[in-house]
Amino acid sequence: MKIVSDRHEFQRELQHHRAKGKTVGFVPTMGFLHDGHASLMRRAREECDIVAASIFVNPLQFGANEDLAKYPRDREGDTRTLEESGVDLVLWPNDPSGMLDGGSGFNIQVGSIGEKLCGRTRPGHFDGVATIVAKLFNLAGPCKAYFGRKDAQQLVIIERLAEGFDFPIEVVGCPTVREPDGLAMSSRNSYLGSEERQAALCLSRALSAGQAAIQAGETLGSRVAEIMSEQVESEPLARLDYAACVDPESLDDLSTISGEALLAVAAFIGQARLIDNLTVTR
Ligand code: AMP
Repeated sequence: MKIVSDRHEFQRELQHHRAKGKTVGFVPTMGFLHDGHASLMRRAREECDIVAASIFVNPLQFGANEDLAKYPRDREGDTRTLEESGVDLVLWPNDPSGMLDGGSGFNIQVGSIGEKLCGRTRPGHFDGVATIVAKLFNLAGPCKAYFGRKDAQQLVIIERLAEGFDFPIEVVGCPTVREPDGLAMSSRNSYLGSEERQAALCLSRALSAGQAAIQAGETLGSRVAEIMSEQVESEPLARLDYAACVDPESLDDLSTISGEALLAVAAFIGQARLIDNLTVTR
């Protein structure tokens, strides 16, 4: 496995592999890797000749009062996980300045899709994600790029980004990896104390309750959202951000559930803002 900090070296390496007829799989991350990240790398390993990953904590996607400064990092542990997952090449910039806009001031604005769900409390977050992902796509070049469904809104936006700008990239959405008790794996779970770790189960419980209601015949989206909210609000250590039942493509609230519904929930547990989601078909 080769680790490079220079983004142009990363770009050249992948161009070189493609020139020899190799296919490339790419997994962008912010590091502090867990099995959710590793599952994307393993999938890329199965489907592509060369597996590339990036580790970059993107300042553009953090709001002023968010956890950029204390976002967890673990160079040794991540190196091990990357190696064990069969990654060939890693872009791991030492200094964020080269990854930012080089002072151009240009930014991608994703528009209204970025203002729904997480965008309501994280204004500008998805603009920051899209800007860096566009840059990473240009560096990676033609490839399959693997993203987790855990970040469902991010995945929808990246699919639109790739399609809208004709990036020669196939975006592949991968299933959410969970702890045995149902908690979705997240780098931010490391912020949780032991009581908070238990309390965090209210997110997956809320999704199960929403799913059960739909399976029992509930068709009103607002009622399903209310059932999920109640689950989170009944947990004293949780502070609900949102619970929503939306169309999986437009992310608009569903008034009536007929086909697929995306159940999405976000809550603060102590210092950690956690998200989770589930797609349910009626
Ligand atoms: P992050 O490092 O949090 O930016 O995540 C990097 C990639 O890993 C994104 O595509 C995430 O959606 C994905 N990811 C994070 N957690 C999980 C999980 N529990 N299961 C599957 N994919 C995940």
